[in-house]
Amino acid sequence: MSEENEFAPDCCVVGAGPAGLLAALLLGRRGRRVTVLERRPDPGGAAPAAGGSVIVQPVTLGLLDQVGLLGPASVGAGRLLGAEAYFAGSLAGRYRYEELADCPVPYALSLRPGVLLDAMLTELAELPDVRLVWGAEVEQLSGTGALTVRTAAGSQEYLPTYLLAADGRHSVVRELAGIAAEVTASDGAYLDAGVPIPPDWDELTRAHFGSHGYLLETRRGEDGLVIVWITDAGTAASVLDGPVEGLLKVWSDVVPRLAPWLTRHITDWDQVRRVQHFAVRAEAWTAGNVVLLGDSAHGMHAFAGQGMNTSLQDAVCLTEAVDRALSGHGTRGLDEFERLRRPYIEGLQALQATNTPASAAQAAPERERAPEFELLALGQPEIRPLLARAMANQARSGAAANH
Ligand SMILES: Cc1cc2nc3c(=O)[nH]c(=O)nc-3n(C[C@H](O)[C@H](O)[C@H](O)COP(=O)(O)OP(=O)(O)OC[C@H]3O[C@@H](n4cnc5c(N)ncnc54)[C@H](O)[C@@H]3O)c2cc1C
Repeated sequence: MSEENEFAPDCCVVGAGPAGLLAALLLGRRGRRVTVLERRPDPGGAAPAAGGSVIVQPVTLGLLDQVGLLGPASVGAGRLLGAEAYFAGSLAGRYRYEELADCPVPYALSLRPGVLLDAMLTELAELPDVRLVWGAEVEQLSGTGALTVRTAAGSQEYLPTYLLAADGRHSVVRELAGIAAEVTASDGAYLDAGVPIPPDWDELTRAHFGSHGYLLETRRGEDGLVIVWITDAGTAASVLDGPVEGLLKVWSDVVPRLAPWLTRHITDWDQVRRVQHFAVRAEAWTAGNVVLLGDSAHGMHAFAGQGMNTSLQDAVCLTEAVDRALSGHGTRGLDEFERLRRPYIEGLQALQATNTPASAAQAAPERERAPEFELLALGQPEIRPLLARAMANQARSGAAANH
């Protein structure tokens, strides 16, 4: 990037999480001048919100594949071939990715977010017009779009044509842009604990809905199994006050098959993680030249594992829309994305809320609390054509750049 343009890029992306880095990569590959501003002092800093691992669905893996990231992001990841759903102990459905028509890959992956981010950074290093600034704290956004950013070296003003807010659920950019948002802490409780993968485990996620709440048995990376328990606040409190054996009793009653394995490997509360989740509802996802993507637009609960999936899909759709706007084709794409995407996101958040009530008495019946396997695997139907179009244009601009 030439020096005169350095502080007036096509886009500033605030936040080097999955959404921000993928957006920077896609825009950079289209020849756009991009500056990524990240609060963390260096790339090796804290892992993103999910910490250990995230489940990434075939639709999103297909996108990563087309961008050349699937191979590197798969290092240390574990495959999931399908899922089983149980209602009050009875098998209600068994699903396999390979049985779905048009499934981009016949598996989901439990992957390490840090590995994915490293793979993106490696690709970004190839792009001369993308700059990354670490230890950058966004301080001010003026009415004329000037963004003041503080680093250890002092304050700097940027004047980007577009400002992409990928700075997570407590987005500062969102606030500075005056976009009102409800950030609601989940009522219920989320607990998880990892154990080694049992020798005979069959690579199927199992979701158990019942009076205990929701218990998920799934993979954590290549060689781990994780039990996730999402329940109402009252039920969790009755267990949390006692010894860890009380927790093991609840989990073992739900999955008796795993009882000896869990008892052997979970012996202390220190092995159990508690996470407070938040739902974000921003009143608008675009305001002037500010575009929210990922958790800053619609942070959500981990139930159904859609936060990172939808964030990465957002990055694909929104960079296509921003690229078109930068080429003088107007901002219709940004409005269209929000119009199509918002109902799905809000529906998902509502479903998540039914699994995390304050008390057991408020819990909805099991069948009303379960997400649809196919929808998670293949993504929101209305968004699929946008993803396909964005990827086709991405490939075209990549081919043009190589000639
Ligand atoms: C326990 C748990 C389990 C999860 N499991 C799954 C799962 O299985 N599947 C799934 O799809 N999703 C999952 N998620 C959700 C997923 O992790 C998030 O949705 C995803 O990380 C959002 O990506 P993002 O890029 O929008 O935001 P983030 O990952 O939050 O990244 C935001 C970035 O912005 C930076 N930043 C913040 N403020 C500023 C600022 N003012 N200036 C500069 N930089 C800033 C942060 O340092 C960070 O690097 C899970 C989340 C949790 C907590």
